[in-house]
Amino acid sequence: MVSAQPAIEQIWDWLKEVADPEVPVLSVVDLGIVRDVQWIAGARQLVITITPTYCGCPAMDAITADMRSMLAKHGIERVEIRQQLSPAWTTDWISGEAKARLLDFGIAPPANRAVDVTEIVPAVVACPRCRSRRTEVLSRFGSTACKALYRCLDCLEPFDVFKQH
Ligand SMILES: [Zn+2]
Repeated sequence: MVSAQPAIEQIWDWLKEVADPEVPVLSVVDLGIVRDVQWIAGARQLVITITPTYCGCPAMDAITADMRSMLAKHGIERVEIRQQLSPAWTTDWISGEAKARLLDFGIAPPANRAVDVTEIVPAVVACPRCRSRRTEVLSRFGSTACKALYRCLDCLEPFDVFKQH
């Protein structure tokens, strides 16, 4: 008798506990990195398909290691992680709920690329603290390559903006 394989939904829940090392308030699932989770029928092997973020390439090794150790904690040792580069990752894959959490964390979330802006660094970004729209770009690169650094002209606080891509 072999024990039953955990359900795919359960595995998604476990992966939701794996945080992005650069933005710890978001999980790899929130970010839209995990595209697909499947058991190989009869093989007791899990295949996870991921699409790396454009800015997180150095972090991807850490992310896949964290995913493996999370699954190992739940007894899943045979994990194959496949990278899928097309379609390319976009910040539009970050869920609305996750964008709200980013804002609470003090990072202005990326604009919806499909709807508004074509600029990677949007012209008008509301301050995550006081919501003022009087803000200016300090640097097109913030604490990581995927963020820009802005400053609010009302509360004078600098803040990160997650660039849309
Ligand atoms: Zn402000």
